[in-house]
Amino acid sequence: RGIDFKGISEIELTQEGPTRVQPIATFKDAGLHPAMLKNVQLAGYDVPTPIQRYCLPAIHLGYDVIGIAQTGSGKTAAFLIPILNKLMGKAKKLAAPRPNPATFVEGVSPRVRAEPLVVIVSPTRELAVQIFNEARKFCYRTMLRPCVVYGGGGFREQEEQLQKGCDVLIATPGRLIHFINNPQTLTLRRVRYMVIDEADEMLMDDWKDDLTTIMSGGEQEEGNINYMLFSATFPKGARDLARTHLAETHVRLRVGRAG
Ligand code: ADP
Ligand code: MG
Repeated sequence: RGIDFKGISEIELTQEGPTRVQPIATFKDAGLHPAMLKNVQLAGYDVPTPIQRYCLPAIHLGYDVIGIAQTGSGKTAAFLIPILNKLMGKAKKLAAPRPNPATFVEGVSPRVRAEPLVVIVSPTRELAVQIFNEARKFCYRTMLRPCVVYGGGGFREQEEQLQKGCDVLIATPGRLIHFINNPQTLTLRRVRYMVIDEADEMLMDDWKDDLTTIMSGGEQEEGNINYMLFSATFPKGARDLARTHLAETHVRLRVGRAG
């Protein structure tokens, strides 16, 4: 792919937080569910990238995480793998009752409202679809069903997707707010993990108020949600969001440009 992950040395990764995260050397060290390890192999990921080496154990240990690393450094899998892995064994118990998408019959099967366990907010349709495609790979042969909604796409089609059941929701902020305002279609009451991806870009595009609304977690207690914030840079607006919503004991990981 023309990306030299091995070129990023460990010394260039700085971490701050209540603990020293022990990085993993290989995906086999990450304590992954066998189905997830298989999906990682199927994705063709042989070695974890530097941000992944620290993020997987940090999220596994239950910390909120700020991950700052340049574009192309593998941030998507750095949060998807550990979050989905955490939920895999519990999906059946945690997820809302819903029709089986495999046997869903249009016009016959009942629709449900989406009660996702994971919400990932992304600035653009293209990035949201990329994350969705990655999520599909890691959800393969698990109980978890990913969905994507974004501005510009048809409301009706997206609503139908949500109403077939959704465990992992990837969304652009405006469209997410639209569906949050339609509580028969979507509720955040079961959310366990909320990821703000490319936070710097969304703040530049003036999504701050919407991000604040989204991160305040809707009907549910904020304390029940693990927050993750990923970004290429970490401007003041992103620091403000992190300070307001992340647990005080969060772990901050930064690749490159130390100090
Ligand atoms: P970022 O979000 O940091 O910009 P991405 O998550 O989009 O980076 O990853 C960039 C590319 O690297 C994607 O094509 C992704 O599939 C690939 N990739 C991620 N992690 C690995 C890995 N451990 N091994 C090989 N390729 C990877
Ligand atoms: Mg990314």
